[in-house]
Amino acid sequence: MKNDCIFCAIAEGEIPCFKVYEDDLVLAYLDINPCSEGHTLVIPKAHYAGLLDVPDAALGEILSRVKKVAAHIKEALPCDGFNILQNNGPAAGQSVFHLHFHIVPRREGGEPLSFKSGKGDMAALEALAARIRL
Ligand code: 5GP
Ligand code: ZN
Repeated sequence: MKNDCIFCAIAEGEIPCFKVYEDDLVLAYLDINPCSEGHTLVIPKAHYAGLLDVPDAALGEILSRVKKVAAHIKEALPCDGFNILQNNGPAAGQSVFHLHFHIVPRREGGEPLSFKSGKGDMAALEALAARIRL
């Protein structure tokens, strides 16, 4: 596996994912341990460990894709709102050291956000990715 990086392996198709969106720059797929229905990760296909490692111009392009995917998810699920989360360093809860943005859909009256929660149901994730794929 390149860089021993699981997200590089997903970007290269070596490890499967429940894809929501892909273009030349980014890949978006469901988090396997979601903290809400539709919890999606947006990653650049290129490897950057975290926010401080990505050039500004590339970051701007990546963020435009985060916005595009979030807007789509908000309509496709649907949901009432969403959180964008991006962790940097173990102290901040980063566990995969390939830059990624969490899109966490939220609903009025829903559960409070518990960032590390849930056990992924693979069949449900596969069906949901098929339903909301952009
Ligand atoms: P972090 O804690 O680094 O901000 O977030 C890493 C996220 O990646 C976690 O929410 C975790 O559930 C998710 N994750 C880890 N390994 C995999 C994987 O192989 N596939 C998918 N889809 N998500 C993963
Ligand atoms: Zn990587």
